[in-house]
This record gives sequence, C-alpha cells and structure tokens, in this order.
Amino acid sequence: MNAGPDDFEVIRSEVRRLCDKFGNEYWRGLEPSGYPEEFVAELTAHGWLGSLIPEQYGGGGLSLAGASVIVEEISASGGNPSACHAQMYVMGTLLRHGSEQQKQQYLPQVADGRKRLQAFGVTEPTAGSETTAIRTRAERDGDTWRINGQKIWTSRALYSDLMILLARTTPADEVDNRIDGLSVFLIELRGDDGELVPGLTINPIPTMMNHSTTEVFFDDVVVPGEALVGTEGRGFRHILDGMNAERILIAAECVGDGRFFLEIASDYAKGREVFGRPIGMNQGVAFPLARAYTNLQAADLMRWKAANLFDAAQPCGAEANMAKLLASEASWEAGNAALNTHGGFGFAVEYDIERKFRETRLYQVAPINNNLVLAFVAQKCLGLPKSY
Ligand SMILES: Cc1cc2nc3c(=O)[nH]c(=O)nc-3n(C[C@H](O)[C@H](O)[C@H](O)COP(=O)(O)OP(=O)(O)OC[C@H]3O[C@@H](n4cnc5c(N)ncnc54)[C@H](O)[C@@H]3O)c2cc1C
Repeated sequence: MNAGPDDFEVIRSEVRRLCDKFGNEYWRGLEPSGYPEEFVAELTAHGWLGSLIPEQYGGGGLSLAGASVIVEEISASGGNPSACHAQMYVMGTLLRHGSEQQKQQYLPQVADGRKRLQAFGVTEPTAGSETTAIRTRAERDGDTWRINGQKIWTSRALYSDLMILLARTTPADEVDNRIDGLSVFLIELRGDDGELVPGLTINPIPTMMNHSTTEVFFDDVVVPGEALVGTEGRGFRHILDGMNAERILIAAECVGDGRFFLEIASDYAKGREVFGRPIGMNQGVAFPLARAYTNLQAADLMRWKAANLFDAAQPCGAEANMAKLLASEASWEAGNAALNTHGGFGFAVEYDIERKFRETRLYQVAPINNNLVLAFVAQKCLGLPKSY
C-alpha cells in the first residue's frame, strides 16, 4: 500500500519533540557559519540519521517515504536538515554497489555515528551540471589509488570522516562514452589522530546561507585499492541511482520549509491589524498564501508518488526530479508570501523568515539545477531532442 502524508505519525511526533529542544533561537545563533553539532549528535543518537541503513547493518531499515518525514519535520520546525541529511542517503551508493566486506566494515559505523559519512564529492569548478566533465583523477599505483584534483561545493566535508568521491579513472578521450571511465571511491578523510590525511586540503566556502560547504584539494592523496566501490569505470551509473533518493528527500525538506512559512505567515495575518482589521482579511494578503499552500500540496503529492515508486524499486527518475522542482518552487513561493505578509518585520532576523528564505532558495539550484530537471523531463517524458 502506498504511503502518504497521514502515515508515520510516530516518526513525525518523535522528530518534532527532538527539534523542539533546538528552537529557532538555536539555528539563528549558528549564523553565519556555525555547525549544529549538538543537534546532529542527538539525531544520530536517536538513530534518525541511520534510518535508511538496513537493520542487518545496524540501521533503522526505514523506507525512503518514512525517512523523508524526518527531514520534512526538521524543516517544518524551523531547523535546517542540510547540516546532516547526507548522512542519511550518501551511503546508498555503498549499500547498492559496495562489496559485502565494505558494507560490513562501514555501514554499522555510519549507522551509529562512529564514522560520519556526510561528504559527497562530485562537483568541480569546471564541472557542475556537466558531471562527466570532471577532471579529478584516480590512478592505480600498485595496491593503491593515487588521487589528484579538486572538488568544489563539497558540503560538510569538515564534519565528515568519510567521503563518497567520483573521480576519472580512464581519461575522457580514451572512452567511447564520457559516462564511462568514472569510478566511485569511499575514502577516509582523517587518520587515527583525527587530522586530515596527507595531501588533502579542505577550505570552507562562505555562502549566503549557513551551509558548511567547502572546496577540497587532492594532492597525491593515496587510498587503498579496496576504496573502490563497485565496478571500475561504472561510477557515474553507480551514483545516478542514489540521486533519486537525494531529490526525494530534498523535496520533502522543501515541503517542510513551505509548511514553516505558511504556518507563521497565517498566524501573523490573523493577528496583525492594519486599518482596524486583520491583514489576512485582505485578499491581497490571503491569496498569495492560499496559492502557495495549493502549490505546496501539489508538490507534496509528487513527493509521495516518487517516494512510493522508489520504495517499490520502480523507475522514479522523472517523479523524483519533478518532485524536487515543484517543491523547491513551492517553498520559495511560500517564503516570498510569508515575507510580504510580514511587511518590514519579515526582514528582521528574529522572525526567522529571512533565514529560511535564504536556506530554501538553494534547492532550485542544488543538488541539480531546475533547468536541468526541465531538460530531463523534456527529453525523457516528452521525447524531445536532448538539449545538452
Ligand atoms: C551550497 C551548495 C552546496 C552544494 N553541495 C554539493 C555537494 O555536497 N556535493 C557536490 O558534488 N555538489 C554540491 N553542490 C553543487 C551543485 O550540485 C551544483 O552547483 C549544481 O549542480 C549546478 O552546477 P554549477 O553550479 O556548476 O552550475 P553550472 O552547471 O555552471 O550552470 C550554471 C547555470 O547554467 C544553467 N545551464 C547549464 N547548462 C544548461 C543547459 N544545457 N540547459 C539549461 N540551462 C543550463 C544551469 O541551470 C545554471 O542556471 C552544491 C552547491 C551549492 C551552491
């Protein structure tokens, strides 16, 4: 049976109870670039960040639909799941393509937080939407791999022990198809002393929202041969199937953001009196909120459709992409309506709208730009010629 918004009530209330301990003041206090260590530690301790890892590897064995409720509730509470959401889904590549030995070794440690797997290194300065243009090289050197290159926008790398890395193992001009010759690695970022491994440099990139994103330099970083995940040369395909999970979870986060905006804006519109009546009586205030609510509900339906298809192991690329696009636009619309509803107060830091407004804006751009979603839908759903 398909899951929907009325399911997972226990998860919703438990996560919400945890989030209530970390109110808006907590998140505001972390600006511009503090990391929510205590919040992440609590989520980990309660098993929420290991929820997608199967029980046999020490995780919660939850469906993606159930896991999406966790991030939705964090967002709806005013928090920002981007600080830790990757710990939930980055391991998917390892789970689906790793060897049994890799899974036994790492998944239980990721599930209980002994090893933080928060970093997903794909994007490079000259390869964002065009993933196959990446230049970071991993070359065999006896029993090891030697890695050289640069990643950018590698979020949470400074708060991670492990990274899933996509690197080129065969030069692009030596393969028939540029999606070949790329490989996935699971690499340890730190030695036993907790310091970064030799040759690795990680620099924070300040951004308009608090996101803990970084640039990562590999200068002859040596990793063991068994760091390779799956089949050499098929790494692009290996990471692709995990991206649907990421998009569905991001869609759920955006739905949570939208709920946050609409709840506080509706309360404000009922209480704020101008010209002797609540501003919510004016259709110029009420209709943008009602329209944003309508679009958010529609986006949420696509999120559940995508999540249910994913959990049934059915193809869900189009639905996952469409859910991400619709939800990122709906949350932005809700944020804009909330900002207008609050008039000047919407810009005041203490109302938290401007903070969440900045946070939710990201999802029209990352993890995939909405233009690229439209290009995908045009090609795959409408049969139009490929545009890139
Ligand atoms: C805060 C933040 C966190 C991130 N975290 C991570 C992370 O953890 N790991 C990671 O690997 N990456 C991460 N990213 C990178 C993100 O996935 C990329 O920014 C995104 O894929 C877009 O790539 P780009 O920025 O290089 O834009 P580009 O690819 O340079 O595109 C620029 C613009 O051109 C448009 N465009 C390009 N080609 C076409 C086309 N054919 N048709 C129509 N429009 C087109 C795009 O839509 C976009 O508007 C993050 C980015 C940000 C900002």
